[in-house]
Amino acid sequence: MRILLVEDDYQIARQVETALGRSGYIVDIARDGEEGQFLGETEPYDAVILDLGLPMIDGLTILRNWRQAGHVMPVLILTARTTWRDTVTGLREGADDYLKKPFELEELLARIEALIRRSSGHANPLLSCGTLELDTGSSRASYNNLPVELTALEFRTLSYLMHHQGQVVSKTELTEHIYGQDFDRDSNVIEVLINRLRKKFSSRIIKTRRGLGYQLTVPDDES
Ligand code: CA
Repeated sequence: MRILLVEDDYQIARQVETALGRSGYIVDIARDGEEGQFLGETEPYDAVILDLGLPMIDGLTILRNWRQAGHVMPVLILTARTTWRDTVTGLREGADDYLKKPFELEELLARIEALIRRSSGHANPLLSCGTLELDTGSSRASYNNLPVELTALEFRTLSYLMHHQGQVVSKTELTEHIYGQDFDRDSNVIEVLINRLRKKFSSRIIKTRRGLGYQLTVPDDES
């Protein structure tokens, strides 16, 4: 899962980036409103963490512009402003959640995880596909009730597919959501990754839709 963090406070940006990275997310950071707005318009993010007080363009304006242009990714607003009026304004402009500074990183992580889950239609933090289970809270995976160790990249790949279960996900889409913007993206890597996941779980759990992409589904004999 790939997250855009728009935050001009260097310290906060670093802390949030580290915490998100440890939880398996890829993070792109924008340090001013202009860059933030541009990235949100041009890159596909699974969620955005948006500070309100920003150089160049303020957070609420960015949010309004995104929503008017039809960008519907979940947005969590971070702000030092504390009045209920600001909260209401942010939510009315299309924010999905709100966190006041100073905040606990654990709370931010829990909120982001819930936002991503809900935006892909999952209410339960334990995602399952047949006997394959992924706990989005603890980042642990299991298959047939046995724990399965995953590398960070494998986890991101599986997590994206689990959140979009049953849908055909193209290589390009997958690449965009498991790598940051600066990464040299090579679609051959995706094939290797998918094969590694198939070996760790079942070769039948991730189907190849020729020319279209991959589809995570419950194997026929498990449904
Ligand atoms: Ca700020």
